[in-house]
Amino acid sequence: MDRRLAAITVLAPALAASASLKSATMFDKIISIHGTYLETTEPMECGSGPLGPEETSIVHEWFERVAGWPNFRVMYPMGSWSMDVEACRIPRPASACLADLDAAGVPYEPLDHAEHVFTPVRITGPVGGVTFEAWGDLVMDCEMAARLPAFAEVLAGRDVTSVGIMSAHRPAAAYSFHAIGLALDVNWMKATHWQRALWVKTDFQKTPDDYTCDVVHSTGTSRTLVGVACDLWRSRIFSTVITPNYNEGHANHFHLDLRPGDNRFFVR
Ligand SMILES: [Zn+2]
Repeated sequence: MDRRLAAITVLAPALAASASLKSATMFDKIISIHGTYLETTEPMECGSGPLGPEETSIVHEWFERVAGWPNFRVMYPMGSWSMDVEACRIPRPASACLADLDAAGVPYEPLDHAEHVFTPVRITGPVGGVTFEAWGDLVMDCEMAARLPAFAEVLAGRDVTSVGIMSAHRPAAAYSFHAIGLALDVNWMKATHWQRALWVKTDFQKTPDDYTCDVVHSTGTSRTLVGVACDLWRSRIFSTVITPNYNEGHANHFHLDLRPGDNRFFVR
């Protein structure tokens, strides 16, 4: 298949109708940098479409932003990848995403503007019985907010009732999904029956020689923390789950991000 044609059919056939030469170049670029699954340059299969004009313009804008970013996840060894076309998420128009938040009972306030974020919201209360504690306003894209109920379910499965969000939307973050409100950094977790919070920095035991989810940890605290990380990876709630095993920059938190249109799931 012609590369450009293949690229246009990445997400859904409906994209082809409105794709310009510019966007085809963009798709080529994102595929050449990020590949689809590890090193292949075949286009991604994601969702079943068709996309409406609003979704199409969101996908184009989104790809334009991400196309030039380095593919950091392939630079570090021992990452585990899996591919799941069904779990691949396509960005939705604001109205569809916000309706999803309403239906799921996520407490939020829509925001008029947050830099680089398609559909910015502020989380205003606990989700599914779990409190997400941030230092300031907890601002994120609606698509990330829409993942909070499933995230809370995983946490509740390990008796976690509150987590510390040390970072969410960071407009100035370079090459980062934080810039567009699609990433969260978690640095502690608490359960009602635990005597203290578990801190990623001190309670997570690094296992640099092994795949993160292959290891049975010797201490209960580390077992709980890595258990949450690996539950999140297996559940396909987020595209990326990074623990202190990844690099020094993540020594004190779990980084979770959501990559619309990307059918790959990563943990390290
Ligand atoms: Zn992060």
